[in-house]
Amino acid sequence: LLSQRPRVARSGVLGRISARCLSTFDKHHDVFETLGIQKTNNKGVFDGEWSGSGPIVPSINPVNNQVIAEVVTMPIPKRGHVLLAMRDALVKNLQPLGKLVALEMGKILPEGVGEVQEYIDILEYALGLSRMMQGAIIPSERPGHIMLETWNPLGTVGVISAFNFPVAVYGWNSALALVTGNGVLWKPSPTTPLCALAITRILEQTLRQHNLPPALCSLVTGGTDVGVSLTADKRTHVLSFTGSTQVGREVGKVVQGRFGKSILELGGNNAIVVMDDCDIDLAARAILFAAVGTAGQRCTTTRRLIVHESVYDSLIERLIKAYGQVKVGDPLDDGVLCGPLHTEAAVSTYKQVLDSVIKQGGEVLCGGQVLTEGEFEHGNFVVPTLTKVRPDMDIIKNEAFVPILHTMTFKTLDEAIAINNGVAQGLSSSIFTTNPANMFKWIGPKGSDCGIINVNIPTNGAEIGGAFGGEKETGGGRESGSDSWKQYCRRGTW
Ligand code: NAD
Repeated sequence: LLSQRPRVARSGVLGRISARCLSTFDKHHDVFETLGIQKTNNKGVFDGEWSGSGPIVPSINPVNNQVIAEVVTMPIPKRGHVLLAMRDALVKNLQPLGKLVALEMGKILPEGVGEVQEYIDILEYALGLSRMMQGAIIPSERPGHIMLETWNPLGTVGVISAFNFPVAVYGWNSALALVTGNGVLWKPSPTTPLCALAITRILEQTLRQHNLPPALCSLVTGGTDVGVSLTADKRTHVLSFTGSTQVGREVGKVVQGRFGKSILELGGNNAIVVMDDCDIDLAARAILFAAVGTAGQRCTTTRRLIVHESVYDSLIERLIKAYGQVKVGDPLDDGVLCGPLHTEAAVSTYKQVLDSVIKQGGEVLCGGQVLTEGEFEHGNFVVPTLTKVRPDMDIIKNEAFVPILHTMTFKTLDEAIAINNGVAQGLSSSIFTTNPANMFKWIGPKGSDCGIINVNIPTNGAEIGGAFGGEKETGGGRESGSDSWKQYCRRGTW
């Protein structure tokens, strides 16, 4: 596996730690030391050996000349033992890793730790799978025959991930890719390379301890050029892409063009429907965290709130009060619910969305400010915001990765479902109701058209046992639980 190291100069090279972390390096030295990240000379390519130096060079194919994968043959339950060891190594490093996620991505510490915990959970799940991935025996019409269905590894799984889950998305993919017998080549977001370095170092140690080629979990850091190469390369047998719909549309076409397999996990535009018969306090609490958590930068963040007209005023009153108590600030500080946006560009998006709401005839109910004074001076801080809009307004049709929740009213459940389904994306959705008839309509063929269809819990988050992903322009991919593991396999019929 990866026996031949790349001969060309590689992209994906970190000659030094990013400025963001340099400024906090000394303050959080313990985190970096524990995770083996140095102040300088972190190498950004791992193909069994750490390599790469100098600046990131654009338009160089990091995958050319690499023999990417030959499958390591190992009984499947034994793979499970290796995954268990990886899990234990992550548990040992849970706190520093969670802190690194908070530092580099900007989400609050409990969410950073929670994200690493998701990786731990999926490793436990994959350990279970290692004893349960069964094929089928199928009755044959031919006398004296039976048919078998077998699931074999494909080779190399390429994982291209987004900035907002710099650990968990790779965890979900790599755990399933490894238990099904594949090698993994990861290209993380260019803005969260340190999380990727730290995780890869931990996996490297575990693989070495088990006398396995550490290149089974390879890494190449870098930007679009690296992603383009990985997408186009035939040796990436499965390309699991998590990111925006805009990029995913191109990635999907390229992978299809070479008849590779893709798993696309793209943007969402998630709605909560609030019925007049619901527990309104329960709904208000759920909505607050789903819309404000991770500063609105989850693919499952609630972006649209569709409220029965008879309870709209009382719900909005509760929400405005709750929004007023949200603490915005340093994601490592206690009590902070909303950290900074990941980039300055997102602050511009926030402002543009609010301008468009006003231009298109909506109003801002609370929030709406960019914070620039005092402790906020150098960061990307905004106040979580509620707007009032009409369902036909263009501005609510697209995903904006900021903490703005658009609220609107409806009269009948059919109307609410039509609004929920009336956008191009189809990731997550939720209804708050105490009426079982509403619940069953919502989850049935005439209900929500999303991949995740919740009842009395918010749109955000995921539990690893279920298949995670969405329909329409969310890409149709499913990861994590249920039978998602089959996507990392070649199905054989005997
Ligand atoms: P992005 O699309 O800008 O980037 C995602 C990744 O794609 C990055 O690693 C980037 O370097 C790479 N990339 C960019 N151009 C490429 C190209 N032409 N070919 C191949 N790779 C390329 O997304 P982002 O801003 O990092 O993340 C936010 C988006 O991700 C949101 O839309 C969010 O909804 C989505 N997301 C979806 C899920 C899900 O499970 N559905 C989960 C997390 C994030």
